Amino acid sequence: MTAYKQIARKNLAIQMIEHLKKRNMEGYYCETKKEALEKAISFLPSQCSISWGGSESLNEIGFMDYMKVHKDDYQIIDRFAGKTVEEKREIYGKSTMADYYFMSANAITKDGIIVNMDGSGNRVACLCHGPNHVVLVIGMNKVAYNLEDAINRIHLVAGPTNTIRQQMNTPCSKTGSCADCLSKDCICCNLVITRYNRQDGRIKVILTGEDLGF
Ligand code: SF4
Repeated sequence: MTAYKQIARKNLAIQMIEHLKKRNMEGYYCETKKEALEKAISFLPSQCSISWGGSESLNEIGFMDYMKVHKDDYQIIDRFAGKTVEEKREIYGKSTMADYYFMSANAITKDGIIVNMDGSGNRVACLCHGPNHVVLVIGMNKVAYNLEDAINRIHLVAGPTNTIRQQMNTPCSKTGSCADCLSKDCICCNLVITRYNRQDGRIKVILTGEDLGF
């Protein structure tokens, strides 16, 4: 990334953190993926319970790898541990009671509104209600000008890329843009717009200068 781009992203992030504060959310800016990981784990007391949603961004900062190495330091609620439908259902239930829940977002507007579109809805459910703390790690590549721009980003970037990643049979996985589908594999089932946080200290947003996810 050029130095100009780095400065522009930092300048924008500083403004966004002020907007997040008005929305009762804590904002932080990290230049690099490494710093983002350090910030994310800095919130965690020893032996707290932790869960997370599927996230390329968390993967890219090394969060999953860190948790594998430090699994004895926390109570990790692993959503992939369940084999049967009932076991998976039980794990998702436990995730909603976690002390800390980690995720990214599909987009965030320049004035701090967080926008997510989910297929199964487990991730947005935990964002809305349940875990005591939610930490979002969001690359500055996901900043949108406004809500309309954020939703367009989902239909043009996040949806087509995520359906390829998850090997979903949707129009966008073949054409690269949204066809407003109603297919069985559709990952655009629940649109959640987070514009304010009522529970003090619950939502923390780590904005990251390096690109993360899609
Ligand atoms: S609505 Fe369907 S086609 Fe559009 S982005 Fe979502 S999954 Fe893809």
